[in-house]
Amino acid sequence: MGMGFQMDIQKDIQYLKGVGPARAKLFNKLGIHTVEDLINYIPFRYEDRGNLKPIKELLQSWFTLQDYTSFKTVQGKIVSSRIIITPRQGRKIFEAVVGDGSGYITAKWFNQAYLKDVLKKDRDIVLSGYLKRDNYSHELYMDGPEYEIIDTESMPEDDALIHTGRIVPIYRVTNGLSQKVLRNIIKSALETYSVPEILPEDIIKKYHLPFSNIAINQIHFPSKGTDIEKLNRGETVPHKRLSFEEFLLLEVGLAMKKTAVTKESGIPFNVNCSLIDKLFSILPFKLTNSQDRVINEIKKDMAMPHPMNRLLQGDVGCGKTVVALMAMLVAVDNGYQAAMLVPTEVLAEQHYRNIKSYLDKLNIASAVLKSGMKSKEKKSVLESVSAGEIKILIGTHALLEGGVTFNRLGLAVIDEQHKFGVLQRAGLKNKGYNPDVLIMTATPIPRTLAMSVYGDLDVSVIDELPPGRTPVVTRWLYGNSRKEAYYIMQEELKKGRQAYVVYPLVEESEKVDLKSAVEMAERLQKSFPDYKTGLLHGRMKSAEKEEVMAGFKRNDIHILVSTTVIEVGVDVPNSTVMVIEHAERFGLSQLHQLRGRVGRGSDKSYCLLLTDGFVTDDGRKRLGIMEKTNNGFEIAEEDLAIRGPGELFGTRQAGIPELRVANIIRDVKILEAARKDAFEIISKDPSLSLPKHKLLRHAMERKWLNKLELGTIS
Ligand code: ADP
Ligand code: MG
Repeated sequence: MGMGFQMDIQKDIQYLKGVGPARAKLFNKLGIHTVEDLINYIPFRYEDRGNLKPIKELLQSWFTLQDYTSFKTVQGKIVSSRIIITPRQGRKIFEAVVGDGSGYITAKWFNQAYLKDVLKKDRDIVLSGYLKRDNYSHELYMDGPEYEIIDTESMPEDDALIHTGRIVPIYRVTNGLSQKVLRNIIKSALETYSVPEILPEDIIKKYHLPFSNIAINQIHFPSKGTDIEKLNRGETVPHKRLSFEEFLLLEVGLAMKKTAVTKESGIPFNVNCSLIDKLFSILPFKLTNSQDRVINEIKKDMAMPHPMNRLLQGDVGCGKTVVALMAMLVAVDNGYQAAMLVPTEVLAEQHYRNIKSYLDKLNIASAVLKSGMKSKEKKSVLESVSAGEIKILIGTHALLEGGVTFNRLGLAVIDEQHKFGVLQRAGLKNKGYNPDVLIMTATPIPRTLAMSVYGDLDVSVIDELPPGRTPVVTRWLYGNSRKEAYYIMQEELKKGRQAYVVYPLVEESEKVDLKSAVEMAERLQKSFPDYKTGLLHGRMKSAEKEEVMAGFKRNDIHILVSTTVIEVGVDVPNSTVMVIEHAERFGLSQLHQLRGRVGRGSDKSYCLLLTDGFVTDDGRKRLGIMEKTNNGFEIAEEDLAIRGPGELFGTRQAGIPELRVANIIRDVKILEAARKDAFEIISKDPSLSLPKHKLLRHAMERKWLNKLELGTIS
């Protein structure tokens, strides 16, 4: 540290010593464009090459342990070297014999004849690499080790070594850019540039954090004695500091976004509306306390003169639909329209029928919009929507198309948000002038992850199920237990109950799977001749799907064989059995969603998981968790633990931000702390205009301005 450091870390990478235009292209491939990017290019693992062994000991221990897989490091003097040419392929091999007083070892490098000018006799050298045994001579040698020449006169210090004799960082590299080159350039950048401290002083003091310059240096070149395990798990203090910084930047961005939205003008609804009272009088049930509480939170938001941005989380079957209906009634009562976006046609139709049965009694015009509709029908719906005659419109992606215009959209509801990308959120919002937005999800993603994905939203949670529900009895039946499943099904059918049989549909083999679903339906019809079996899958026409669903709802169809089109939202409380074929192919949250189709009444329900043949370890874990718990939040946590955050819903689509150092699972506590600090900072200094926040603001803008669609923050 100290004098002479350069501060301009925004400088283009190509001007850095040892880079130049050609290499810069390779760096660009790794996402490195500036010196700052380079310095923040974190090693993905470390190797302990500091453990120098006398050559004799190394050779002896090799013969006892036969250890091919761990890195060995030796230090010695080159006693001889030569180039040999392989007889058949004519490849050149450079060989050097190194001795350290205890013994000798040969190192071999293929196709690197130029080394004869670098690794000359009598040079002191450190070698790090794997041992191999020659096929013919049976002698041990080091295979293409990384080397470092030690200039004993000018650099006697410990830290002088970069590639050997220490804990060495390993980076993701690309063709044409070796570990060694990358390491050298990073080392030289760290020696030339000083990383400015962007965290405010009070934060550094509060957590006793190391300064960023020190942390960054330690991350790349850890000092002697650092715990290698901790390094590789990303749990050293410098790692924690950088994770904190990364989270803080993200959360500061989200906090600013949230503040910006609360400043936009929106519709101040009058929430004491008579329609809600009327709905209460015709609802066949009493709301749960959770539903009541959540409706009040939503009403409060809707009354504000700023747009609502609220996420409603609640486990499958907790009754989110009726909450959305209440919110939509507020909009309608105020002379506005409301729209509800859902992921599947089956669900659109179901919501429509369900909601319409209430709306008709309240004299409110509603409609459904689906891609599969006849064009004449569609046209008439669109006309009445844009004329403002239809007050509540429910629909699939079709809602987002250009032809859909509202007369006065006041509220947009998005159901099963996890099935959509982030962009759709904006898509529906743009159909009105700053309408209120209510987003509903049952995934339910763990709270901590929700923070980073939906960090700019307010969150409401329904944390109880309507009274009288009993947990679904879940059993994993393997091998030939289909009989047992059918027995349970038979017993329930006898009682007048209904059953689902679900088939997975894997894209690559869609045709094959479809065929097995069709065959399954036929076979079941034969096995259960007294009952009617129906079939439902995504390839069917809208009208056909509707007919089958309506038949199932009326209890004309008793057994519904289906692909995952029934995964979300479908609500037929009389069904008490869910059989899932090839349950091992489903993800955990998907299984939980499917299971949510039963257990909707007060009677005992069953979820029977069938598997054929081999089930992977992860598969076993998933099925075991399903047997163990009915709680969606618990399942979401387990799912996250098995799959890791990146894969939760296909990262990009769900808008989970990309993080360099931090890991949402490992660093939950750090995320929580950073979020709290971020919101505190923004509440005191909403636009980060205080001098002490200047660098924080610049860093946040560089990283998140575009990605969070923050627009211009003034
Ligand atoms: P989800 O939250 O999964 O969307 P739904 O809104 O589909 O759940 O509700 C599940 C079922 O519970 C529906 O049949 C609904 O009519 C019923 N329901 C909702 N709220 C209550 C309540 N307070 N008491 C009893 N049944 C309810
Ligand atoms: Mg629902």
